[in-house]
Amino acid sequence: MNREIDALKDLARSLKRRVELSDSSDWTGAAAPGPETAPRPAPKAAPAAAPAARAKAEVFAELSAQIKACRACPLGKSRIQAVPGVGSVDARVMFVGEGPGFDEDHKGEPFVGRSGQLLDKIMESIGLTRKSVYIANIVKCHPMTDPSDPEKRGNDRPPSPDEIAACRGWLDTQIRTIAPRFIVTLGAVPARVLLADATPISKIRGRWCEYDPGEGAPKVRLLPTFHPAALLRNPDLKRDVWIDMKNLREELSK
Ligand code: URA
Repeated sequence: MNREIDALKDLARSLKRRVELSDSSDWTGAAAPGPETAPRPAPKAAPAAAPAARAKAEVFAELSAQIKACRACPLGKSRIQAVPGVGSVDARVMFVGEGPGFDEDHKGEPFVGRSGQLLDKIMESIGLTRKSVYIANIVKCHPMTDPSDPEKRGNDRPPSPDEIAACRGWLDTQIRTIAPRFIVTLGAVPARVLLADATPISKIRGRWCEYDPGEGAPKVRLLPTFHPAALLRNPDLKRDVWIDMKNLREELSK
């Protein structure tokens, strides 16, 4: 009898481990999921928008038009196009990156290059999609080392403090309008900016923090994690990001 109980316990432990590993196998390189550990189905499509949601969508469309017309800093002159964000105005989760790169500047959508493809896989592993979350950046225009040549690849640089300050209001308005339950910051820059805290990303990642978007809007729980580009450079970091995503999935299920 005891042996049977031990065997059952072993089976439960191994099933739990497979479930933990399976959903990230697409991007962490872990064992491929078997049929019993297939990724969870994506949430069902939302029903037709209620009037309040329509009003929110209209506010958002207007906001995106204003961002596209913004010339508050020099990036507004060198960019090909502004990149307001993508996703649902009713998102429960917002992912926030640093700023658009070459691909985003050309397409007008955040995270569409190599790191964006990895971000899609990371989100999918916990049942989220580009359409169910909202993805935005700290700055909405491509910061370039050589602003005279937006057609040159590898012409990227981090946004300057002045550019961040000029752009900051857009993101806060987006956060207040969407009122997500959670924000996931990707990499050092968005964590530093939103938390006003220069603690290295390696120390702060995975720790739940709180973000106050201002104007009496509800505070939002914020989880800093690594940027997908860092994972492309150092695949060992995928393990930590997978821990963070499981943590997020757990909170979303509450
Ligand atoms: N990196 C970012 O931080 N944002 C993007 O939109 C693309 C790459």
